[in-house]
Amino acid sequence: MDPITALLDDVLAEIAPQDAGAPADYIPELAAADPERLAFAVVGPHGRVRAVGDDAAEFTIQSISKPFVLALALQEQGRDRVLSRVGVEPSGEPFNAISLEAGTGRPANPMINAGAIAVSSLVPGDDVDERTARVVETLSAFAGRSLWVDEAVYASESATGDRNRALAHLLRSHDVLEGGVETAVETYFRQCAVIVTVRDLAVMAATLAFGGVNPVTRRRVIDGPVARDVLSIMGSCGMYDFSGEWMLRVGLPAKSGVSGGLLAVAPSQFGVAAFSPRLDEHGNTVRGGLVVETLSERFGMHLLEPHESVAVPAVAIERAPGGGGVIRLGGELGFAGTERIVAILRDFADGLPAGATLTVDATGLGASHPGAVVALRAEFETMPAGVVLVV
Ligand code: GLU
Repeated sequence: MDPITALLDDVLAEIAPQDAGAPADYIPELAAADPERLAFAVVGPHGRVRAVGDDAAEFTIQSISKPFVLALALQEQGRDRVLSRVGVEPSGEPFNAISLEAGTGRPANPMINAGAIAVSSLVPGDDVDERTARVVETLSAFAGRSLWVDEAVYASESATGDRNRALAHLLRSHDVLEGGVETAVETYFRQCAVIVTVRDLAVMAATLAFGGVNPVTRRRVIDGPVARDVLSIMGSCGMYDFSGEWMLRVGLPAKSGVSGGLLAVAPSQFGVAAFSPRLDEHGNTVRGGLVVETLSERFGMHLLEPHESVAVPAVAIERAPGGGGVIRLGGELGFAGTERIVAILRDFADGLPAGATLTVDATGLGASHPGAVVALRAEFETMPAGVVLVV
């Protein structure tokens, strides 16, 4: 076992004895899950999947499909059209609550069932089969392998899905649903019944972490701004009516599902996923949540704590024998980073012998924000002759 996997294994061993909660029992297929199953996987920028525990255990994706079908709708229909059908405000209510906005009838957000059904109605396709094919194709592209629908779970969801049908009828009465009730809910039931493993979920999370490019297949699945929109909504609404406390404790956009799956995203760093069927009173996996919370603490992944890498671009200085030289910038140049670069540069420029050149080579930056480049250029106007910027 490599050292990182060993660290993950330690986290898993610490959490394993916890036995609070119970598997979902509103459909027989979920109630039959083995409550002892526990697994955890992490995928970084090179697409290497590190998994511990029951990582081959298969389960239905359930609500974790919601952010990915949302990604498909955003990609195909654009943000404005999607937002005309569904809001982006946390509802503070359980996943199957009615939560429709007064006046417009829009569901509060795409992570509750009402919102997800509205989003599923935006999936292109003439009938349920075509739409399901689009959904499965999208989920598969995120996971980097061909996924499929568990027909038994689908059938039992559909047979017991009166509340979701009722939600869809309400949506239709407000003119929020695109097309018919049955097409929307049947697509939704099938998307919930797609079979995954914790490895699949970690790759799916990683695809969101890396701006829509699957780090395993290297394929772009969705555009960068779509990935950012999806993560923003997961950040405020992804953990049912526990989303606010989750952000406080863990600090990562996440999505859970009633089968006991959970994924979380550390942008530019990792996708992580956990699986354990026992759920708490909000419908979130108890041990899965603890695993991700422990990981976030231990590896300093809370998004809202200071991260030096954003404030300091990589700088390599090559001094020339007669003074001067080249300063090469790498990584990401943000606004705060510009300030640091300028401080280094001023020191260097002050001691620059007459006739020597100091070149700042910004061509190796992986990403630079337009405002940061404008600020950097403006600083160069005031630099002594001999200091040159190459962008
Ligand atoms: N298929 C489930 C439902 O709509 C999904 C619920 C969930 O995972 O939150 O009832």
